[in-house]
Amino acid sequence: MGYYEQETPPAREERLIVGDSFAGKGCDALDCAKSGCMLRKGRRFWQANACQMMLSLMMAVTVENSVIILHSPIGCGSMLHSLEIASARGKSRRGKAATGAIWLSTNLQESDVINGGEKKLKDTILYADREFHPEIIFVVSTCVPNIIGDDVEDVVKEVGEGTQAQVTAIHCPGFKSRVVASAYDSFYHSIISHIQLDPIPYKDYQPVERFDPDYGIKIRRFNAQKQMTVNIFNATSIGPDDEAELARLLHAIGLNVRVYAEYSSAQELRLISHAGLNVSMCNVHDDYILKYLEEEFNIPYIICGMPIGFSGVRTWLLEIAEHYEIADKAKSLIDSEEKQLREALKPLLPQIQGKRVMIDGGVVRSLSEAIMMKELGVEVIGVNAYHYDDGTDPVLRQFSQEWSDVPFAVSNQIYEAINQVKKLKPDLVISHAGTHGWLAKAGVPSMHLFDVEKPFFGYAGIYRFVRKMQFALKNTSYVDRLAKHTQLPYKEEWYDKDPFYYITD
Ligand code: SF4
Repeated sequence: MGYYEQETPPAREERLIVGDSFAGKGCDALDCAKSGCMLRKGRRFWQANACQMMLSLMMAVTVENSVIILHSPIGCGSMLHSLEIASARGKSRRGKAATGAIWLSTNLQESDVINGGEKKLKDTILYADREFHPEIIFVVSTCVPNIIGDDVEDVVKEVGEGTQAQVTAIHCPGFKSRVVASAYDSFYHSIISHIQLDPIPYKDYQPVERFDPDYGIKIRRFNAQKQMTVNIFNATSIGPDDEAELARLLHAIGLNVRVYAEYSSAQELRLISHAGLNVSMCNVHDDYILKYLEEEFNIPYIICGMPIGFSGVRTWLLEIAEHYEIADKAKSLIDSEEKQLREALKPLLPQIQGKRVMIDGGVVRSLSEAIMMKELGVEVIGVNAYHYDDGTDPVLRQFSQEWSDVPFAVSNQIYEAINQVKKLKPDLVISHAGTHGWLAKAGVPSMHLFDVEKPFFGYAGIYRFVRKMQFALKNTSYVDRLAKHTQLPYKEEWYDKDPFYYITD
C-alpha cells in the first residue's frame, strides 16, 4: 500500500533519509547520508525540540471557513492564541476577511485516558458542525489519543458522513517524529484523505456543452486556460509579498497563477486539480502533495529549490518556462530584471560586502541564502540547518561547491548556535524567528531568515534582503548594551567545549 492510501501519514523518517545531528562540511553531510551514518547520529543532550503538531496547526489555522478540533488535553492548543492573530493578518494581506480562528478542544482528562476519548470527539465534531457551519473541520490527533488507541480515523469517517462540513484528521502526535517537517506531510495527508480536490461543474466552473455551436473553440480555450495555470505551494514562512512577487514574474511570461494550500477555501481546494503544472517553492514543505497530485490527477510538477538569490530565481523561472517552451521569453525577463536590480543595489552593496555571516534555520532556506551571500560578496562562516533529508541534496550539493570549506551542521539546538557564535564571532547572524533574543544576549546582531511581512523571494526579495542586512549592521548598540547587562544560562565551561560536543555516532 502506498503512503497516500494509508489512514495515517508516514513520518519523514519512514519515507526519506533524514538526520537531525551532524557537524562537518556540506560534502561530508552528503557522504554521511549516503553511507547511512546520518541515521545513527543523535545527541547526549538536547536543550529543546519542537512538536510537529504545532506546524500542522500553523497550516490548518489559515484555511478559510474551517474549525479546528484539538483531540488532546487543553494545553496542546496554547499556541493557537498567537497563531490565530498571524492567520487573521495573513488573510487580510491576501484580500480575504480577517476572521479569527475557531478552535475547540476535547480537553482530555485522566478518566478519558482510561475510558477512551472517542465519544467526546464525536460530540465535539457534531457540535462544531451545528454551531459554526464550517466548510472543513480539522480534527487534530495529538499524542494522547495515539497513546491510548482512540480510532480517530474511524470517528472522522463515521461522523463525517452526517455533517455538512467535510471532516478530516491531521495525524500529528508530537512523539511520532524527531523531524518537525513531518507536520507538512500530516497536513497534506489530511487534505488528500477527506477533502474534495476536483471541481464541481456549474458550481466551480461552467462546462462547455456538447450542443454549443462553438464547442470546438470553447473546449480548446478551456483546456488551454487549464494548461497555462500554475499552482505554487506556500507555507507559513512564505509571505503574501513572496507570493505576489512570484505571481508577477509568472504573469509576465503569460502564465496564470494560483497559490496553495494555506489561505485556501474549500472551493479553491477543489480547483487544485484544474491546473497544468504544480511548482514547489520549497520541497521540505510540499513534495508530498506534489507527488500525490501527479499520481492522482496526472499533473506534472517541478521541484527546483527556492526562488532566492540571482541564480535561485533564474533557475526557478527557467525550469517553469522550459516546461511551457517559452524559455526565450523568460530569459529576456530575467535579464531585464537583473539589470534593474544590479543598478539599484550598487549604492548598497559596499555596506555589506566582506561582512562575515552565520546562517541558522530551515535547511533549504539557509542553504539558498548562503548561496545568495556569495552572489552579493558576503562571506559565510557557518551554516546550521534544522534538519537534513535527501530531498535537499541538490541545494546542499550546490552549497558545498560554493562554500566547500565552510562548516555545515544539522542542528536546531540554540546552545550549539550560541557556542558557535562565541567562537566564530560573526558580524551578523541570519536566523529563524525565535532565536533573536538569544543572539542579542550573546551580543551579536541578527536578522530574520524569513519574515512574512516582507518579500524574500524573487528580485524584490533580493533587494529587500540587502536593505535588511544594511539596517542590521548599521547600528549595533542595542545588542552591545543588552549583552553587557544580561546573562545567558550557560556555564563558562560550555564555551571551552566544541559546539557539537554532545553529538553521538
Ligand atoms: S508533544 Fe504531544 S502533548 Fe506535547 S504539544 Fe505536541 S501533541 Fe501535544
